[in-house]
Amino acid sequence: MAWNMYQELNIQRSRGQAAVDIQNRDNLSGRQQDRIDDLEERVDRLLLLTESMWELLSKHLGFTDEHLVHMVRTLDLSDGQLDNKVNRPARKCQNCQSAVPKDRATCQFCGTEVPGANLFDA
Ligand SMILES: [Zn+2]
Repeated sequence: MAWNMYQELNIQRSRGQAAVDIQNRDNLSGRQQDRIDDLEERVDRLLLLTESMWELLSKHLGFTDEHLVHMVRTLDLSDGQLDNKVNRPARKCQNCQSAVPKDRATCQFCGTEVPGANLFDA
């Protein structure tokens, strides 16, 4: 129940933003529209992953919405701010010390593999 309410809130927020995006669409450059399309695709992928995981956890392991709400709050507060975000620190290349984007498995400058990519950042 709480999970459904949380999801509904997020969906309403997304719909409101989508309405604003549609109003502004005529003013967007092609590059901006591509970025929006990429972000929408990423949100859809993350939502699918999240819902699939929740189905597994709730149906096969018995976790409840209360467990989930508690964990959401715990992770949200892990950086000291209750802001509906998880802020993971950037990874660094062990070879050249460059910051490595979340969606990369290798350093963009020297090609060194950088472990620790998170499934949710893909
Ligand atoms: Zn590097």
